[in-house]
Amino acid sequence: MSTVNRETARPAAGRAGIKKELPDHFKDYRHVWVFIELERGQVHPVSFELLGEGRKLADKLEVQLAGVVLGPPGEAIGNAIADAFAYGADLVYIVEASLLADYRNEPYTKAMTDLVATHKPEILLLGATTLGRDLAGSVATTLQTGLTADCTELDVDTDGSLAATRPTFGGSLLCTIYTLNYRPQMATVRPRVMPMPQRADKPVGRVIQHKLSITEDEIVTKVLGFLPDSQSATANLAYADVVVAGGLGLGAAENLQLVKNLARAIGAEYGCSRPMVQKGWVSADRQIGQTGKTIRPKLYIAAGISGAIQHRVGVEGADLIVAINVDPNAPIFDFAHLGIVTDAIRFLPALTEAFTRRLSPHNRDKLAS
Ligand SMILES: Cc1cc2nc3c(=O)[nH]c(=O)nc-3n(C[C@H](O)[C@H](O)[C@H](O)COP(=O)(O)OP(=O)(O)OC[C@H]3O[C@@H](n4cnc5c(N)ncnc54)[C@H](O)[C@@H]3O)c2cc1C
Repeated sequence: MSTVNRETARPAAGRAGIKKELPDHFKDYRHVWVFIELERGQVHPVSFELLGEGRKLADKLEVQLAGVVLGPPGEAIGNAIADAFAYGADLVYIVEASLLADYRNEPYTKAMTDLVATHKPEILLLGATTLGRDLAGSVATTLQTGLTADCTELDVDTDGSLAATRPTFGGSLLCTIYTLNYRPQMATVRPRVMPMPQRADKPVGRVIQHKLSITEDEIVTKVLGFLPDSQSATANLAYADVVVAGGLGLGAAENLQLVKNLARAIGAEYGCSRPMVQKGWVSADRQIGQTGKTIRPKLYIAAGISGAIQHRVGVEGADLIVAINVDPNAPIFDFAHLGIVTDAIRFLPALTEAFTRRLSPHNRDKLAS
């Protein structure tokens, strides 16, 4: 059972004892960039969450916030540009080429590294999605700069360096990482870790075009086709408004059905703690927490989950956390807004029945909206 207090584990602001003169040529690097992840016509919402964070960093540094959109010619790229402005970008860099139709590491890395080499951003942020992680790693390696993955906080130090904070030692401590010797400073952030900023419909601003300098013959990866995504049914977990999750306290794989029943009754997604995945009772894409999904629902109901720090970090952005646990001293009661000390195996069916009786399909939709 973890009793780590995240506040006391939080590192002190600033880099006491490791102050270092930043090299002169760092002054050539200015502005904050956010990669606008456009895949198959859709912008991943983590891009907007990052624009929200990027805006704060850019304002502190008194520089501009830019979006970077890479994709094939067409309507989607125009929509992505409009979205980037609506979520706070001052300008947008685009590389528009049919070679960028489906994500492939080489042309995307080439587009991004050419842009960086030409326009020299001081900070480059990407979503820690499957695509973003792949791209961030190869961009950082090609540019030979530092990359801090899966950050939970981003800030600016007194000398203007990016202070990128992320969990370490299994999530029991937070550490702040600086890229002192290289530019740009790169960081990835998982979906839902940062709040979604307000959308403001403002006119499209300055768009800077850049040509892609790679040809099909230079790209070893070819896209032959797409297979149906086994995870598409659960893709909504991170962005669901209501989530019900079960933990080891459910005692047996078949008891997860109680969680699923409640989720269905209230129009929610269902998830689980990590041991449920390790036991093979639930698929990994349903795991919530530090090594699973981060969620920010309006309502989170956790049944038979102890509330270990690695689970807590994935759910503490929820507006209302309801915990059901037999142990009144379970750590989850330290951060749940509402605690119910009882046997989940008996309580879940009763709760499901009560909701089913009271909620018409119309009211259920209202609960989830
Ligand atoms: C590097 C690392 C990463 C990790 N990442 C994650 C992660 O992403 N997500 C995650 O969840 N965990 C993660 N963990 C594991 C984490 O530390 C905990 O072990 C895990 O969250 C515990 O899962 P649990 O609460 O389901 O089980 P337990 O800790 O065993 O808790 C079960 C709870 O159920 C209660 N209970 C028992 N019977 C009943 C009943 N009948 N009715 C109601 N309550 C009952 C018990 O009182 C207990 O509180 C990670 C660990 C490490 C080291």
